[in-house]
Amino acid sequence: MTDIVPQHVRSRMMSRIRSSDTRPERAVRKFIHAAGLRYRLHHGTLPGRPDLVLPKYKSVVFVHGCFWHRHEGCPYAYCPKSNDAFWSTKFENNVRRDARQVELLRGLGWNVFVIWECTAETPGVLQRVVEEIRALAPSPAATQIPPLVATAKSSTEVLRVAIG
Ligand SMILES: [Zn+2]
Repeated sequence: MTDIVPQHVRSRMMSRIRSSDTRPERAVRKFIHAAGLRYRLHHGTLPGRPDLVLPKYKSVVFVHGCFWHRHEGCPYAYCPKSNDAFWSTKFENNVRRDARQVELLRGLGWNVFVIWECTAETPGVLQRVVEEIRALAPSPAATQIPPLVATAKSSTEVLRVAIG
């Protein structure tokens, strides 16, 4: 197939398509999987259809494209020079929708992580996210801690009985 569209225009066109298997997403999935965390993909019933869902950690992960989701201060989040009004409306809507989805997810008790496309292959960034998610694991030890208050109370009772 002959490519009649210049490369930079073409990649912009392609990036408009919400792909379920972009390179940044694959990089994030690979890292998280290698770290031993288990996830499900694109949970359709959750707001915003998060890219990864980790039920055990009550966490969701979005891998956001910097251009469409407006990564602040990122060179990939440039503004196209033509058709100014169109783009600014479009971007505002995207940002507002993202914020709303995060709000809805948090309201449902989910922890929300966003990994930007430009950092999706940076091990340091991914490692930090993995550690934060891990820290959210339900601790099995927590349920085995003896009820200290009740124990103290009963020993007081025993003591009273002994004195009384
Ligand atoms: Zn970025």
